[in-house]
Amino acid sequence: MAKRDFYEILGVAKNATDDEIKKAYRKLAMKHHPDRNPDSKGAEEKFKEAKEAYEMLADPQKREAYDRYGHAGVDPNMGGGGGGGGFADAFGDIFGDIFGGGGGRGGRGGGPQVYRGADLRYNLEITLEQAAHGFDTTIRVPSWDECEPCHGSGAKPGTEPVTCPTCGGHGQVRMQQGFFSIQQTCPKCHGSGKIIPEPCPSCAGAGRIKRNKTLEVKIPSGIDDGMRIRSSGNGEPGMNGGPTGDLYVEIHIKPHAVFQREGDDLHCEMPISFAKAALGGEIEVPTLNGKASFTIPDGTQSGKTFRLRSKGIKGVRSGYAGDLFCHVVVETPVKLNDRQKELLQEFEQLTSEGGAKHSPQSKSWKDKVKEFFE
Ligand SMILES: [Zn+2]
Ligand SMILES: [Zn+2]
Repeated sequence: MAKRDFYEILGVAKNATDDEIKKAYRKLAMKHHPDRNPDSKGAEEKFKEAKEAYEMLADPQKREAYDRYGHAGVDPNMGGGGGGGGFADAFGDIFGDIFGGGGGRGGRGGGPQVYRGADLRYNLEITLEQAAHGFDTTIRVPSWDECEPCHGSGAKPGTEPVTCPTCGGHGQVRMQQGFFSIQQTCPKCHGSGKIIPEPCPSCAGAGRIKRNKTLEVKIPSGIDDGMRIRSSGNGEPGMNGGPTGDLYVEIHIKPHAVFQREGDDLHCEMPISFAKAALGGEIEVPTLNGKASFTIPDGTQSGKTFRLRSKGIKGVRSGYAGDLFCHVVVETPVKLNDRQKELLQEFEQLTSEGGAKHSPQSKSWKDKVKEFFE
């Protein structure tokens, strides 16, 4: 198969500047990188092709040879050619820019890699009342102090950390993996560029000591389950001067004995006696802000829902209150004495004499059953 023109592969002009070539390659590398296209054989081919083209055009000597003699001028079988590391460095650089982890600083020729500290999560369990009204609380979270005996160096007092022999203090090593040259964090010093021959006994070489501190947290009213409050800079410390991570306080609301929350609305079951349901009247219900009362009409059926506007929770984002839904459950009386039974029997007698008008649901149900069997 004929090899494609390197300029054509990268989509740049013959007189493109180094910068244009680098940019074009970076774009293609991002697009076709195997990590981003794990199942595409085509992407891998395109990535390799772009990489080869870039390799040639980024090296002034090779580019000149290519411009003059075409592909024959830069036959890879001819060997590494002058400069050796030239390409690897350029590639490592660009690779680091795109996919590099950590703080990205340091890298080639620079100091050790800088890492941002990890974020921490704190699970805070609160009641529904606390969520509805908001409150201030204190939590115990880990914090780190510089180790006093070693002044944060991690080395046993009287000794010093030494430059890592594996990476020469860069914190990064270049690994050759078949076609790829990848810059990686040094496995020996883990990116710090230094190793500690004799660790400080107080901190075991960490340079800092974990303690606890008390943090005040303001829980806003209306907060819902699963929401998180960020406390910036209260996570784990960074490495090599990197910034500290953040602390996230994640809210978990305990189940409530009476209310179920749905967004900013509340739901509750409201058991009422069947006499009350039949006669109607005033009903008292609990809300998160004390008691409320309302009137139910006579003939209220089980399953009927009453909506009390704005008796729900005032949302932390919306800023206005949800509603309270009361679901009626008509309760059958139990443990009746003789007198009560007597009255009910009399009552039953009178209602059956009164006919179907007293029980519309039973009537329509009986009609449906009848239809069904006919
Ligand atoms: Zn120490
Ligand atoms: Zn190292």
